[in-house]
Amino acid sequence: MSVDAAWALRWIEASAATVAQNRDYLVDLDRAIGDGDHGENMDRGFTAAVAALREAQPGTVAEVLKLVAKTLMSTVGGAAGPLYGTAFLRASKAAGGGDLDGAGVVALIEAALGGIQARGKATAGEKTMVDAWTPALEAARAAAEGGADAADVLDAAATAAEAGAAATKPLRATKGRASYLGERSIGHLDPGAVSTSLILRAAARAATEGGAA
Ligand code: ADP
Ligand code: MG
Repeated sequence: MSVDAAWALRWIEASAATVAQNRDYLVDLDRAIGDGDHGENMDRGFTAAVAALREAQPGTVAEVLKLVAKTLMSTVGGAAGPLYGTAFLRASKAAGGGDLDGAGVVALIEAALGGIQARGKATAGEKTMVDAWTPALEAARAAAEGGADAADVLDAAATAAEAGAAATKPLRATKGRASYLGERSIGHLDPGAVSTSLILRAAARAATEGGAA
């Protein structure tokens, strides 16, 4: 079982829906340790991405992700815009020209994390979205090595991202706006790690609910 362009389109639609549903939650999280714009930024970006995809109707996973990257870069703003933009751009390059099997999904997540780290220079444990993407990649790799198909690799990645996001609570931020708070960033979830977990859960759901090829 692999995932195709229709999956990628469902993924971004589902991401837009979950980000919209969790808009106020993400605002609250970002208000606690940032400037409160993360929910609004992400909602604007994914709404614009869905509109752009409906207009352009791209035919491959790579083309979908490339258009998402461009749209997020130009609409999200803040730190998250360039970070997610780079993640989707690198993921698009890793996707190649066809559908993705389990190993292909691992390559996509690896490329996304690589892009985020190239941009933001954060490593695991600094209370950023890297703390969701890193365990997601590790879990995806382990699942693929065990023979999991694309949908099961995505499910493993999403579950690990959710745990990774939850585990940002006790961390002290040393990158991004939250780092200005020092010790006072402890005891709050990182908004970008939470939005990452929402987006990866949307990817997993899009693979099972839409009937992967
Ligand atoms: P801003 O901080 O500019 O207001 P957002 O609120 O949209 O931007 O996004 C904040 C999120 O961006 C943080 O919760 C964190 O996950 C992520 N982030 C910030 N800086 C970095 C970085 N250097 N590397 C990875 N992620 C980062
Ligand atoms: Mg913010």
